[in-house]
Amino acid sequence: MKNFSYLRPASMDEARRAAAQAGAMLLAGGTTLLDLAKCGVAEPETVVDITHLRDLDTIAFDAEGVTIGALAKMSTVASDAGIRAQYPAISEALWQAASAQLRNMATIGGNLMQRTRCAYFRDPIAFPACNKRNPGSGCAAIGGATRNHAVLGTSESCIATNPGDLAVALVALDAHIILGDRSITADAFFLLPGTTPQREHAIEPGEIITAIRIPSSAAARNSTYLKVRDRQSYEFAAASAAVGMELEADGRTIRDIHVALGGVATKPWRCREVEAALKGRPLSPEAIDQAAALATEGAAVHGDNRYKVALAPRVVARAITNLKLRGIA
Ligand code: FAD
Ligand code: SF4
Repeated sequence: MKNFSYLRPASMDEARRAAAQAGAMLLAGGTTLLDLAKCGVAEPETVVDITHLRDLDTIAFDAEGVTIGALAKMSTVASDAGIRAQYPAISEALWQAASAQLRNMATIGGNLMQRTRCAYFRDPIAFPACNKRNPGSGCAAIGGATRNHAVLGTSESCIATNPGDLAVALVALDAHIILGDRSITADAFFLLPGTTPQREHAIEPGEIITAIRIPSSAAARNSTYLKVRDRQSYEFAAASAAVGMELEADGRTIRDIHVALGGVATKPWRCREVEAALKGRPLSPEAIDQAAALATEGAAVHGDNRYKVALAPRVVARAITNLKLRGIA
């Protein structure tokens, strides 16, 4: 690990100025930053510690939604009674992410900024070719082992999956990421790789995530997060789905539905076609299966990840069915 200097700014303004300097990286829970520094992917010149900045760890509800501070711990948000009641998909996504120890340490802001788990990205010595780590160097994954790589949103430059769970629920529920003075939809915050896979988030040097804002809605109250993975805990998603749904007064016609996929795309993947196919239709197994099949329309397979094209629609269908069976939709 390269030596770096450590800075503990006294205020948010000072933190922003420090974060704008070349080679500066923020330290929140440290669970990703330290990992990446140890494997030689992150080489900060200055680590800017923001853990002590005030009023960034609150969870505040109002009539239109909830604002969650960027320094709130994953475990605190997951177990919050208001989040569990008003935004079950958020709580469920967080409970299924990482491990208890990590959730107690890691923050919401850091979670959204985590990097891909592409094994080639995380091993610069064995695999020098990685456009995300070293733009223009190529992509070791294409033509390599791709079981965990994306089938949606890929480019010729990069096929790495976005690994986050919370991010999928935020995209499904139309959340905004607040960066001090400006805010951006969660959907727009996560970037497609295109020809610039090194840039994963719509955040500028010197900007700091201060909070996330999630609007309240019937669909958010009736939401769930389903994660399918190789083992039941401490594992990233092979495919996951966040679904929120509201039914008409007849109890069977879908008035509103929000669907996003994780584990299969280069960013949290909003499934607008699935939503459009279900809105206004009676909820039936046939309608769910037909709509869910649209989740991976346009998928591009690279070797070992073909199974994701079949798996993702099933995860979407099961998440919608789970909501129906719970009787909360
Ligand atoms: P840090 O490590 O402190 O920071 C991470 C990055 O975010 C850094 O680049 C930092 O500069 C930047 N940053 C931090 N805060 C801000 C801010 N407020 N504004 C702007 N930039 C900021 N995640 C999942 O979603 N699902 C999983 O299943 C999962 N499994 C995991 C398993 C392991 C073994 C590990 C190590 C991690 C796993 N994670 C998983 C990722 C984990 O959730 C993240 O490491 C964690 O959320 C990062 O938060 P942090 O506060 O520790 O971030
Ligand atoms: Fe790097 Fe992306 Fe290729 Fe992985 S898939 S090696 S992150 S360029």
